Amino acid sequence: MIDLFRRRFLIGASLLSSTPLIRAVLPTPAFAKEFDPTAALVFPYTVPALLYSYDANEPAIDALTMQIHHDKHHGAYVTNLNAALNDHPDLQRKTLPELLAGLNQVPEPIRTTVHNNAGGHANHTMFWQILGGKGGEPKGDLAAAIQRDLGGFDKLKADFNLAATKLFGSGWALVLVDGEGKLSLVARPNQDSPLIEGKRVLFGNDVWEHAYYLKYQNRRADYVGAFWSVLDWPRIAARYAAAKAGTLAA
Ligand code: MN
Repeated sequence: MIDLFRRRFLIGASLLSSTPLIRAVLPTPAFAKEFDPTAALVFPYTVPALLYSYDANEPAIDALTMQIHHDKHHGAYVTNLNAALNDHPDLQRKTLPELLAGLNQVPEPIRTTVHNNAGGHANHTMFWQILGGKGGEPKGDLAAAIQRDLGGFDKLKADFNLAATKLFGSGWALVLVDGEGKLSLVARPNQDSPLIEGKRVLFGNDVWEHAYYLKYQNRRADYVGAFWSVLDWPRIAARYAAAKAGTLAA
C-alpha cells in the first residue's frame, strides 16, 4: 500500500514540476466522482481531487477562487506538511487524524508547522467535500438533529453566519458531530482543526480572505450568506451517518 501511495505522490510531484509548455497541453484537471480518503489522509499527503468542476459553485464562489484555493492554497499546506515530516518516519506512519490528535507528541521544532499545515489539510479536505451542491435544506435524521441540538435550520444558519462574520481575522465556522450524532457549532481561528481535540467536523466554512476576496473583497457577510446555496446536503448527510458509525475519517 505504501508503494501505491508513494507512486501516486511521485506522479503528482512530477506534474507540479512540469514546464509551463507541458502544463498547457495537459487535459483539464482530473475530478473525482467520490472522495478517496487514502489519497488525502496518509503520508505523503495529497490534495484530494474536487468532486465537481471549478465553476460548479458559481455564482456563490467563483471558479478562479476555487482553482487558486484548491490547487495553490491547499497545495501549499500539503507541500509544507510533507516537507516537515520528511525526516520523521515515525510520524509518517500516522494517519492525518492520528497526527493531529497526537500533536503534543510531535517534536517541538516542527510542531507549529504540523499544527498549521496538517490542520489546514484537514479543514480543506472537509471543505471540498461539502460544496458543489444545490443548497436547500437537510432532511431526515440530520434535520432532526439540527432541530434538537441547534434549534432548527433557520437558527443554525443565523448563529453560524454570526460566528463566521464576527470571527476576527482568519479561521473557520464549523458544525461538529460526535459519535452519538450530537451537533455543536464552534469557531476556530487560523487552521486550528477540531481533529486536534479528537473531534470530527460535519461541515464548515472557510472565512480566510483567500476563500472569498477576489469576488467579495471586504464583504465577508455576503460570502457567508451565499455559502448555503452551494452546500451538498446529501453528502453532508452521508458524513453524518459515517460519524455515527465511527467511520468519518476527516
Ligand atoms: Mn482556505
